[in-house]
Amino acid sequence: EAEKRKYIKGKKLGEGTYANVYLGHSRDDPNFKVAIKKIKVQAQYKDGMAPDAVRELKYLRELRGHPNIIGLISVFSSKDQNLNLVLEYLPLGDLEMLIRDVERVRYGAADIKAWMGMLTRAVWWCHENFILHRDIKPNNLLIAADGEVKLADFGLARSFADPGRRMTANVITRWYRPPELLFGARHYGGAVDIWSVGMVFAELIIRSPFLPGNTEMEQITLICKHIGTPTEENWPGVSKLPEWWDPMEEPIPVWGKDAYMARFGAVGSEGVDLLWRTLQLDPKKRITAREMLEHRWWRTDPKPTRKEDLPKKS
Ligand code: ADP
Repeated sequence: EAEKRKYIKGKKLGEGTYANVYLGHSRDDPNFKVAIKKIKVQAQYKDGMAPDAVRELKYLRELRGHPNIIGLISVFSSKDQNLNLVLEYLPLGDLEMLIRDVERVRYGAADIKAWMGMLTRAVWWCHENFILHRDIKPNNLLIAADGEVKLADFGLARSFADPGRRMTANVITRWYRPPELLFGARHYGGAVDIWSVGMVFAELIIRSPFLPGNTEMEQITLICKHIGTPTEENWPGVSKLPEWWDPMEEPIPVWGKDAYMARFGAVGSEGVDLLWRTLQLDPKKRITAREMLEHRWWRTDPKPTRKEDLPKKS
């Protein structure tokens, strides 16, 4: 109750799947702006709180304090037992808005390196704490007033501390979803987020979604065509996955780095090497967040742009 009185709710900023987000400010200091994420009441959970809301709260608490994870300032419940998350206010939109505004927003390799560095550190922090985000995509990467990119929307996150437990394969927005989830894997790890990071990386370079499938089947087809067909040779065990299907046709060989150079060469050969390692079909062969941080690309010219100097939405 005391926490609730500290904030004044203002206009609606946006609507998500399970929450409305409002601008708010501190009662004591009107200049201290916040975003209040008010979880919608869901009839089926009227005796308790919606599981996605509970997850989001739990994981935001555990990950608190990292510069590239959206900050949780406070929590309160309103009269109707609605959970309200008080989040840091991120006024500069999200990475998707910048990627799409080709007319007005220009950026280059140094900017991509800065954004990718912030994304990689966010994912590294999640995985270091045994948390999978499971919905990494440009519109969940929000931008702070100082240019810092922050990973948001932990409604689908979960812990992977217990590797014995089965998990749902129905997570991650289709275009960013890795092949193991498209084939119905129930045991998976940090590699699912790394694939999404690779898809964001590719999208930052070409400024449109790399593999925009309209259905799950088309998504797999696009992966086969642009990355390579998963086979027992390049991915031992793939044919044992619950929803694997034999494409019957001649498998398309996995593309090498040279083929990626033609399309993604703007980030140089080291950048392409990193991208290629995030997009390995076999999750066991995919680079980890920790290994990503040690990659040579970060130390190769051009240096990442300082966050204050990054392009902003106009
Ligand atoms: P979704 O990912 O489905 O869009 P969210 O509930 O995370 O759902 O957010 C809904 C919208 O509210 C976002 O698209 C964004 O425009 C806005 N928003 C969310 N969090 C913040 C924030 N911390 N600061 C500013 N705007 C936000």
